[in-house]
Formats: sequence, structure tokens, C-alpha cells
Amino acid sequence: MTTTETAGAPQPHAFQADVSRLLHLMVHSIYSDRDIFVRELISNAADACEKLRYEAVSTPGLIGNDEGFSIRLTIDAEAGIITFADNGIGMSHDELIGALGTIASSGTRAFLEKLNQSGSKVAQDGDSETAAVGADLIGQFGIGFYSAFMVADQVEVQTHKAGTTEAWSWVSDGKGTFTVTPLAMEAAPAHGTRVMLHLSESSKEYAQPGRLERIVREHSGAVAVPVDLLDKPDSEPRRISEGTAIWARPKSEITPELYDEFYRGLAGQFDSPALTVHWRAEGRHEYTVLAFVPGSRPLDLFAPARKSRGKLYVRRVLITHDADLLPGWLRFVRLVVDSSDLPLNVSREMIQDSPIFAAIRKGIVNRLLQELTKLAESDAETYAKVWRDFGAVLKEGIYEDPERRDQLFKLARFATSKQAEPTRTLADYVGSLRENQTAIWYITGDDPKRLAASPQLEGFRARGIEVLLLSDPVDAFWVETALGYEGKPFKSVTHGMADIKSVPVMEGETAASDAPPAPEVATLLSFMKETLAESVEDVRASDRLAASAACLVAPEHGRDRRLERLLAETGNLGMLSKPVLEINPTHPMVAALAQRFAAGDERPLVEDAVWLIHDEARVADGDAPADAAAFSARLTRVLTRAALGAAAKP
Ligand code: ADP
Ligand code: MG
Repeated sequence: MTTTETAGAPQPHAFQADVSRLLHLMVHSIYSDRDIFVRELISNAADACEKLRYEAVSTPGLIGNDEGFSIRLTIDAEAGIITFADNGIGMSHDELIGALGTIASSGTRAFLEKLNQSGSKVAQDGDSETAAVGADLIGQFGIGFYSAFMVADQVEVQTHKAGTTEAWSWVSDGKGTFTVTPLAMEAAPAHGTRVMLHLSESSKEYAQPGRLERIVREHSGAVAVPVDLLDKPDSEPRRISEGTAIWARPKSEITPELYDEFYRGLAGQFDSPALTVHWRAEGRHEYTVLAFVPGSRPLDLFAPARKSRGKLYVRRVLITHDADLLPGWLRFVRLVVDSSDLPLNVSREMIQDSPIFAAIRKGIVNRLLQELTKLAESDAETYAKVWRDFGAVLKEGIYEDPERRDQLFKLARFATSKQAEPTRTLADYVGSLRENQTAIWYITGDDPKRLAASPQLEGFRARGIEVLLLSDPVDAFWVETALGYEGKPFKSVTHGMADIKSVPVMEGETAASDAPPAPEVATLLSFMKETLAESVEDVRASDRLAASAACLVAPEHGRDRRLERLLAETGNLGMLSKPVLEINPTHPMVAALAQRFAAGDERPLVEDAVWLIHDEARVADGDAPADAAAFSARLTRVLTRAALGAAAKP
């Protein structure tokens, strides 16, 4: 027991600054769906029961001869108080201050981060515009315990931690401070917590039993602890939610609404899942899985840890909230696994190292891939959405997990030079190869639109060769390691020689001719090579251009340019190789320039033009000119010449 609370008037504690902001927002937002406080408090109560159930496996004395876990809602309409009581683990003095005085939960923190990101500060005067932003966000996040202050002007928490001999009372009006005072053991629960809400004037409706019952059924029907309701402090408890874990029930008894509601609680999402999979594995290992592919991207999808987070139960005892049940490339799947085989009484860490756990993990990955494949076949539209949201994550598996590569190739969808929507499969691609085409061609970059307009694609387009447009960062990596698909290697259109001359040009199209360049052009190319020696490795005639005069590509021995850039960004520089400048030898500008150069009297102009061609190719790749000042000086000189025209010719 700490001394400050043992004698005299209770010492007020100030909330952590973030909590004060959040509380202010809660109280001032005109939020239509205030009902969520019920779900949040029930979820905390259920968590507390599950924690004690786990602790009691090794220390059975903690629960004594309790008749089972339950959550009890009591309505005292006269006093305007509703109470959420649980016989869970309870909180010690320090836990109480830590948990209810600071932002503990990940959901709450993510909420505040989002709020900061969206640039809306929580106005200190309840300014209606910022409050509206906040209200909308509250709708998207579970914001935990503090949601109680949406309906209560005072909250008291009485708690007794199982296995201890102290109990505490926490009181706050949600306006910046709270107090913690000792609670007499006679007045305290045997173990667990009571959260008492003094309903505010505008929230008295929550004191109606029908209202509360409906909210519980709607939002908490899948909670794994039973919920009882007492219409009045002295009435008999009435069970309003059975507390049977949803995954343990037969599928036929579970409505889609119930699955969706369970998903929302589990995932902290407010949408509906794109895919729900519920199965029981029998055989060597027995376990039940309830897994969801979210209907939209969770906020932490690209968090650096790349960890999957699943709830792991062993025979209905919650072992951990964040078991690493899936490989990183399936981390977007939210799931509950309940195993009958794993040992209960070993530590959480040990469980994750057990071979049974590894086998379960493998079984789940197999099944999820099967289900995704099935969805792709049976409901292309929903699958397209799943791919849009999570394709970038699934593709990490192509790179990381060679064993799953073929399965993932079947799931992968691509935007191509023929089709902007990412809906083409590799099978589609290989099914429409052009005569003499031997590779699967791709281009990588950030922006699919710019990729589609890349000069490097022109020669491919003229020959009707489809090119995959790869715009996710992970693409630059997997294409390097994947050996190919159905015997066709992946090749970058911006890397090495294109060698597509043997594919016939389509009717009505033109492409750089495959005749050797005219002698003047050859001379110009070697002049260019000399002039640009610092910046490019080589200058050569190209077969991959049609309308444009030039483009940059990576040399044969170098890495793809996009990959080099990504590695440079992450600091893994390695050797930056110089690119190759490819020139369209039949482009009119190139031909005219070659003539001038051959005539021998316009060297400064040709030199300016050579650098400008080089810089233009850089710009087409999304880079800046190599030297901005020199670039503008050259451009000005050339434009001046053009503007003065033939009349001013010296
Ligand atoms: P979250 O549940 O996401 O952690 P909350 O704001 O809902 O965030 O709760 C904050 C913390 O307060 C919980 O993590 C828990 O430690 C504690 N807590 C809240 N309610 C209870 C309860 N009924 N019993 C025990 N601990 C609780
Ligand atoms: Mg909570």
C-alpha cells in the first residue's frame, strides 16, 4: 500500500496528457453511436476473466471455489447508476493507476495517432468541427475504458486483484484528474472489478433493461464469458449472453451477423470481413480456427514488425492475444485458434517453440491459401478487393517462402500494359504470349500511371507484347529471386538488352528498325558516349523504343534501376551502377542531329542536345535532371536558338 493513499484526503492524480485529450474529445463529441461503451466495458471484463482463467491453471487457489466466470450488469434506475461487474483478475494499486491513468491500449494509441495525422487537434473549447472529426474516428476505433465518459459524468472503479488482500476505489469525473483510495475488503468483490457509471443527464436511457440487453446481444453476443443482467439491484440475474466461445459452436448455429460482430471485436475493425473461414482440424492435431480476412486495410499493416497477431487458446483458456500464428505475408488475417493438444501449463514462449505449434501453423497456412484460391475462383469481385488491399503483403511470400511460390503465383493479380486494373493472372499472361516471345516482361516503379507511359515500353507495345506493371516496393525484390513461371523467366524492360526484334511488329505500328544504324547515327552515338561518359556506362541503339528518342536502362551486369533506388533509400547502397542510354536510331530528331554533327559546324548545339536527351530520359524515369542549373542553361540556349529560328542563323 502506498503511503499517500493511506491517510487523510485522497491525493488527486492527473491523467497522462494524451488521456486528457481523449477524454475531452469523448465528452464533447456529439457521437451518435455511444452504445459502444457497453461493448468496450464487456470486452475488458471478459479479458480480465480470461487472464484469471490462465493464471489459475498454474495457481488454482486464485479462484477458490468460484462457480464460474461471469459478467454481471446491474441497473439502478433510481440512482442513475449502471454497474459492470466481473469476477476476473482485478487490478493492483499500481496496475489501476497505470491502466486507467495512461493510454494503455494499442487501439487507443492508434486512434490518437490517427487524430494527429489527420491534422485535427482536439480543440480545448469543444469546437464543433474538430469534435466532428473526432466522433467519426471514434466510430472506427475501439477506444476502450474511456468510452465510459461518453455516457457518465462520474465513473467509479472498485477492484480487487485475485490473490491479494487489498482493494481499491478509483474515481473520476473525466475532467483531468482521478483519485485512488483503499476500499474495505468487506465492500470489495472476492476478486475482480466493478465499473460503476453515474449516467449523465442526457444518457439516462441506458438505465432501461431492454435497451441494455439489446446492445449486449448486438455487440457482445460472441464474447467467451456469459453475461447476466439484473434489472434492479435486488432482482434475480437473467442470462442474456451464453458466453459459449463462438468458434466452439457448430457453424450451422452461427449467423453471418454474429461472425461479423465477433470479427469487429477481434480485429478492432469496423467493417465486415471479406472472407470468414471457420474449421475444425482433426487427425494428428486437433484444433479449431476462426479466421477473417479484413474488409479493409488495418492501420498497422505495414508496421515494421510485420508480425501476425492471433488469439491462441488451449482448450478454451486464452494463452495469448498475440500469438505469431502466421508468416509475415499473411499478417493481415485476424484469427482465433483453439488447440486441444498444446500443453496448458508451460509458458507462452515455450508454446510458440513447440513442434505442435509449428504443425498447427503450417496447417493454417495451407488452409488459408486454399480458401483464398477458392474465393478467387468463386467470387472474382471480392477477391479483387482482397488483392487490392493485401496483394502487396501476399507478394512478400513469393520472395520469402519459395515453397509457397507456385501457390502464390496462382493468387497473384497484375496490372499490365494491356489492362490497368490488377486482374491479370500469370496464367493469362502466359496464355497470350506473342510469337517468339520467351520471357515474362515487367517494369517496376512507384506509380502505375507513369509506368504505363514509360518510353521503355514502346517497342513492346508496338509488338503486342504484354508487360506487367509492378508498382509495389516488394515487387522489385521478388522478381529478382523468382526463377520464372512455367519455364518463362521474368525480365525487366529496363534492364539489359531487350532482344525483342524477333517478335514481329503489329500491323499499323512502327518501332525502331532493326537495320544497323546509319553511319552518321553511329558516329553520333560514339560522340554521345564520350560526352556522357561520367553519367552513363554506354550509349547504344535500341529496339525497345518507338515514339520516344531515348530511354535509360540498367546494364546487363547491374541490378534493376528500381531495386537500386530502393536499396539506396534503405541505406544498403552497394555499388551503384551507371545506366545505359538507349537511343531510337530512326527518330527524326536523332537523325537530324546526326546530320548536323556530321556537317561538323554545330558542336555546341549538339552537345547541349545530347545532355538534354539524357536528362529527358531521367525525367521519364521519375528522376530529376542530373544537374539542374546546367540543365536550365542548356535548355535556354537550345530554345533561344529554336526561337530565333533559321532567320537568325549566323
Ligand atoms: P485495452 O482493453 O485495449 O487494453 P482499455 O482502455 O479498454 O484498453 O483498458 C485499459 C486497461 O485497463 C486494460 O488493458 C486493463 O489492464 C485494465 N482494465 C480495464 N478494465 C478492466 C477490468 N474490468 N478488469 C481488469 N483490468 C481492467
Ligand atoms: Mg478494452
